[in-house]
Amino acid sequence: RAKDDGRNTLRFFVPEMQASLSQRMDMERQLRGALDADEGLELYLQPQYTDEEAICGAELLIRWQYEGSFVPPDVFIPVAEDSGLIYRLGDWVIENACRIGAGLKDELRDREFSLAINVSPRQFRQKNFSEKIFEAMERHELPRGLIELELTEGLLIEDVDDTVSKMLSLREQGVRFSIDDFGTGYSSLRYLKSLPLDTLKVDQSFVRDVLTDPGDASIVRAIVSMARTLELEVIAEGVETKEVRDFLISANCLRFQGYLYSRPLPLDDFKALLETERERVIV
Ligand code: C2E
Ligand code: MG
Ligand code: MG
Ligand code: MG
Repeated sequence: RAKDDGRNTLRFFVPEMQASLSQRMDMERQLRGALDADEGLELYLQPQYTDEEAICGAELLIRWQYEGSFVPPDVFIPVAEDSGLIYRLGDWVIENACRIGAGLKDELRDREFSLAINVSPRQFRQKNFSEKIFEAMERHELPRGLIELELTEGLLIEDVDDTVSKMLSLREQGVRFSIDDFGTGYSSLRYLKSLPLDTLKVDQSFVRDVLTDPGDASIVRAIVSMARTLELEVIAEGVETKEVRDFLISANCLRFQGYLYSRPLPLDDFKALLETERERVIV
């Protein structure tokens, strides 16, 4: 089960493929049905590790199982964005993320840990986005600092005033921020410095070939030193081998997420992993 991260099942919906209009309308209808019935949607957790092999966080990744197959989020999130269903889907994610956070409170006691939610641009632009997050955090009595929102560079640089004011009010309530897929967008150093950010997530497209592509290696080193300059944490996504991890450590990137450690896991498997780690640390 742990190996099954719900990626490969529905082969004909590969992310690269541009779904046809009728496929998209079909998908939109099915996704609406899934939300109506609250059926087939689940958040998986992919653990994040320090260089000392301690779990320091998890990213929540949505899974949609439709008629026995997983539809990749890279396929259905854009459909949800275009159709406006992203509002309902985003609400579903926030609610379920906070419920998961509440359920992990005991396991996470006395441990530095962030639970990261992916936020899509239209979802973030909602007038009451910050209030929705506060409301769910409060209702589930989540500790400050637990919830981290993953934003993309593109979202950060459009409508700057709205971005900054939302981030500041969320930050005041103890929400953390990371930039997802960092390096693939266009944010400037000066601008990054002015935002209340905590973490840069180095995009996996640079991490993957870091050992064979000198350009990627330079980019990773540059991102890490940029993060240090801005006093931000930096984490590498898509870490699949020990050799890549060792390169990252040599480049002073000390947080990792990727298949080397774990695929995204259903909640129960994630809890079991935390439990195993706790025993390992105590022994
Ligand atoms: P992302 O946020 O950049 O998430 C990282 C993606 O890389 C995930 O794909 C994860 O399963 C995959 N991954 C993790 N480790 C490795 C590795 O070592 N090697 C490789 N090749 N891949 C790895 P996934 O789960 O298919 O999600 C794809 C994208 O869909 C996410 O990219 C994110 O942009 C979006 N997404 C996922 N869940 C949500 C959600 O709840 N809300 C929103 N708005 N978007 C989401
Ligand atoms: Mg992400
Ligand atoms: Mg990413
Ligand atoms: Mg991505």
